[in-house]
Amino acid sequence: MSLRLYNTLTRQKETFEPIDPLSVRMYVCGPTVYDFAHIGNARPVIVFDVLFRLLREIYGAQHVTYVRNITDVDDKINARAAERYPDLAPEIGIRRLTEDTAAQFHKDIAALGVLEPTVEPRATEHIVEMVALCNELVAKGHAYVAADHVLFDVSSMADYGRLSNRSLEEMEAGARVEVAPYKKGPMDFVLWKPSKPGEPAWTSPAGITTSGRPGWHIECSAMAGKHLGDVFDIHGGGIDLAFPHHENEIAQSRCAHGTDVMARVWMHNGFLQVEGEKMSKSLGNFITINELLETGKFGGCQWHGRVVRFAMLGTHYRQPIDWTVDRLVQARATLFDLSFLHGVPVADGPHPDVVAALSDDLNTPSAISIIHGLAKSAHRNAETAAVLKATLQFMGLYGDETQVELNPGHEARTVDTAKVEPLIAARLEARRRKDFKESDRIRDELAAMGVTLKDTKNKDTGEIETTWEIAR
Ligand code: AMP
Ligand code: ZN
Repeated sequence: MSLRLYNTLTRQKETFEPIDPLSVRMYVCGPTVYDFAHIGNARPVIVFDVLFRLLREIYGAQHVTYVRNITDVDDKINARAAERYPDLAPEIGIRRLTEDTAAQFHKDIAALGVLEPTVEPRATEHIVEMVALCNELVAKGHAYVAADHVLFDVSSMADYGRLSNRSLEEMEAGARVEVAPYKKGPMDFVLWKPSKPGEPAWTSPAGITTSGRPGWHIECSAMAGKHLGDVFDIHGGGIDLAFPHHENEIAQSRCAHGTDVMARVWMHNGFLQVEGEKMSKSLGNFITINELLETGKFGGCQWHGRVVRFAMLGTHYRQPIDWTVDRLVQARATLFDLSFLHGVPVADGPHPDVVAALSDDLNTPSAISIIHGLAKSAHRNAETAAVLKATLQFMGLYGDETQVELNPGHEARTVDTAKVEPLIAARLEARRRKDFKESDRIRDELAAMGVTLKDTKNKDTGEIETTWEIAR
């Protein structure tokens, strides 16, 4: 069975051939740690976790290296630390902010069933490598020093723009950014810049005498190069990162190392949207992972991490997702139905059809419909049940949670059905005598038991009839 992945670089689905099947290497851009991660940020984390699991299944767990970095040098971090800790020395405030935010991120994504990457490098621990890359690029004529900055000269690279499929001329024509006077070309980008007083600062490269700090793009080139080598297999992130971030990572790494590609396959997840708009901090329409899991801010109840993961994987990773309460309700209902797998033994590995579906460019919707099919026969067939459990575990969708745990913040819903019908009859009787206080009281009593009522008028008799269901 072959693995096929859509490659942004070639704009087509390709058969994946690792450079070395004994050492399959993937890099994914991680969070900038200045604030809670929102549920849009969770999408690449979950999507590439599924790919990591699939690669481990195909090539063997010990043969896959997954690097997902932490960006802890950034203007937004400096600004937020100064705002939150005005009385602390900047470096202490920054460290506190980045450590707390990284710890929160780890807690959030662990709840979403995400495995730890093999390496999780931090930008601040790779400054030496960033300085070396800057020096290399200047020495090779791909970068220049101006006004204490190191800038990448995009005109020095024949095929700059290959990932985003745009020529330099097109980009320059469309450039609306105000161009700094010290830049040679409008699309030249910063590799290193001087630090203002109070900002984190390191000894600069290329003979610059003032201290400074790295730009964002060089951070990923340095961390990827250090942990995965000059050329590796897969690089991933959200589609918004394709330009300029990934384009510039490619320019830096290829020009420094003299290679044709940085990564062979470039993968990008689509956006998570709310009411047709991208969920983002700048638009203010975001919901954090933490709020989803621990508050009732979205849909009036807390959502279990496994439910969130299931809901996320219901859409193919390259499509936009519209994030709705209904999506979560359905995911929760499915996981409720699968909780009969408690105590069932686990098979050795996942169902091959699910592995095949995922091997077709991570077709998670197809994998989930196969899971639904397996669930139907698993009730009657112990072998299928064992395989289904192994399949769910493989996809990070099963963790032995009980129905109560899947519904955090609610009491156990074991409805004594024998009590329901008499209460409904008593309520209808109360309504007939127009004792609405009593009928409402009975409705509330049933609601507290987890039973919701639906009243309909019988067209022929004009009588009110009541049906009920157990609320989930
Ligand atoms: P940031 O912290 O903004 O650099 O984003 C971290 C990761 O989340 C990147 O891979 C982004 O592409 C991704 N991302 C940000 N917003 C969304 C969204 N609304 N939907 C999907 N992915 C997103
Ligand atoms: Zn990156």
